[in-house]
Amino acid sequence: MDRRDIFELSLAEIESWCAERSLPRYRAQQVTSWLYQRGLRDFQEMTNVPRPLRDALVTSFTIGSLELAMLSRSSDGTQKLLFRLRDGATIESVLIPDGARLTLCVSTQVGCAMGCTFCATATLGFRRHLTRGEIVEQLLQARPPTAPKARESSVDDGDLPARITNLVFMGMGEPLHNYAGTVGAIETLTSSWGVAFSHRRITVSTVGLVPEMQRLLADTQAQLAVSLTSVDETTRRELMPITKKYSVAELLAACRALPLPRRKRITFEYVLIAAVNDRVDDARALARALAGIRCKVNLIPFNPFPGSSLRRSDDVSVARFQDVVRRAGVHATVRESRGPDIAAACGQLVAAEERRARDVASASDSGSTGGAADLATAMSS
Ligand code: SF4
Repeated sequence: MDRRDIFELSLAEIESWCAERSLPRYRAQQVTSWLYQRGLRDFQEMTNVPRPLRDALVTSFTIGSLELAMLSRSSDGTQKLLFRLRDGATIESVLIPDGARLTLCVSTQVGCAMGCTFCATATLGFRRHLTRGEIVEQLLQARPPTAPKARESSVDDGDLPARITNLVFMGMGEPLHNYAGTVGAIETLTSSWGVAFSHRRITVSTVGLVPEMQRLLADTQAQLAVSLTSVDETTRRELMPITKKYSVAELLAACRALPLPRRKRITFEYVLIAAVNDRVDDARALARALAGIRCKVNLIPFNPFPGSSLRRSDDVSVARFQDVVRRAGVHATVRESRGPDIAAACGQLVAAEERRARDVASASDSGSTGGAADLATAMSS
């Protein structure tokens, strides 16, 4: 019998599993406490769980499925984790230290269907959704050890802060296209029986799937970030094909109507691309379009990747754009891409890994061995 990954289950499902075996339901919470608070990776080490239950758990479940295939460390402290999934596909997570903050960026899909032209993940196309457990496990593997009995963390934590303080769903994939996986993962991550991570410190980023944005605010208390990148309908359609389904006007009207709790605001992400959306007129149009929406804007200079003809805005244009938006009364911050020397922008490492695999395959046809050095070259190309 194929064993299920126990990270796929909610507390209620583990309780039902216990009940089917005439075991008290409270045993379920003992198990989840070992899994999520103590980070245990072996059912037999759950010392307050009776032996027959431990044996039954071993027979029915595995603990996790992600294998850390590569860890890259940037000169700016950013760490990129490449995970291999059970079916051989690879995904990325990124740990980003910033003073006392340590942000983990997780993936929600293998590849992505949204086709944004400024994103390396789009070049992979859509392969599949990640499961709830595969999303949660990215955090479990990336966080430092939390208890003496915990497994060794996958991550060489070096000078990183002691714990992950913020979690962003901004890695590979559109989180709201994988609604069930994303919301299921948020349940495990925020529940007291799970990781007990604060809702306020979780941000879900979307290209603007309007109905799912509304559902997300109803179903969770996560923060919402909308990747906007242009308020001109034609330009945004070219950069972000989802605009054909939800126009800029419709997206912004939906944002304006969202029932945001007090003190909550939407983050708009705006990728600055030279001579495409970084002119003074673009900045003025952005500020006008956001009037009346409780929000802040993150300006992100485009991070070039192999095969893209788009160019990064120069520093003068970035500063000028920020100044125009701010003067119009909209809070705007420039966010530099982190870890450029390890291809830390969304999808770049997996794309590099796939190029390497192709190169190795063709090199082995011609007698070359390939290997890690090839990957380092591919990553820096
Ligand atoms: S930016 Fe996000 S939604 Fe767009 S293609 Fe990349 S991963 Fe997908």
